[in-house]
Amino acid sequence: MNKKLQQIVIFLGAPGSGKGTLSRLCEDRLGWKQLSTGDLCRHHIEHGTQLGKEIDLCIKSGKLVADSLIIEMVVQWLEEHAREYQTVILDGFPRTRVQAESFLNLTKTAFPDVALKVYQLIVPDQEIIERISTRVVCSNSNCQAIYSERKLGADWDDKRCVRCESSLIKRSDDAPEKIAVRLDNYYQHVKNLLDVYKEANIEIISIAASGSSERVFQAVNDHERMDA
Ligand code: AMP
Repeated sequence: MNKKLQQIVIFLGAPGSGKGTLSRLCEDRLGWKQLSTGDLCRHHIEHGTQLGKEIDLCIKSGKLVADSLIIEMVVQWLEEHAREYQTVILDGFPRTRVQAESFLNLTKTAFPDVALKVYQLIVPDQEIIERISTRVVCSNSNCQAIYSERKLGADWDDKRCVRCESSLIKRSDDAPEKIAVRLDNYYQHVKNLLDVYKEANIEIISIAASGSSERVFQAVNDHERMDA
């Protein structure tokens, strides 16, 4: 509870580029804390909050939720939790120029001494589509661990989450027609995001993130050691 927040790490990448899996590895092995706006949105929907009702349709169709709602969610989370961790990962946020600019303004005032860096995960579209179409997740909205049908086998729906024993499901926005919408969103905004970070002199580390999550984690870990 009394740790001081020292760095915020932004994981930037298309849906299915491995941000969630990498975040879990960094949580388990480096003691970092993931803030995933997608997980937060799904949590609100499952608990039927007012916000959950407002964003439900948007999420199911693969569209982006309004900037103002997402920013409010992130600010609230950071106010409540940021000081419990030394490093916070932002997974899936910022996703638009407006979000990035608001977030940088917020950090200037609320966390002036906190270091910021961006890891950009690069994965070819074909691999992304294959990963998302075989993705399976834990149904417990407090867990949302990520699995792959390829590793679990055809009887994946008989299996349970190794973290919390809940059942496994497919995300409704992982359906093929929604993947295209979500990839379009990413490519539409990524250049603007990179421009905002470059203008703010934030370090951007690009990682070729095809293949094993272990190798991607090692690339992040090596970079962190160099920075230490
Ligand atoms: P994700 O789990 O990151 O793939 O996000 C799932 C969905 O949540 C997205 O397709 C959006 O509908 C919504 N979402 C998550 N993060 C954001 C964000 N930063 N801005 C807008 N919508 C978001």
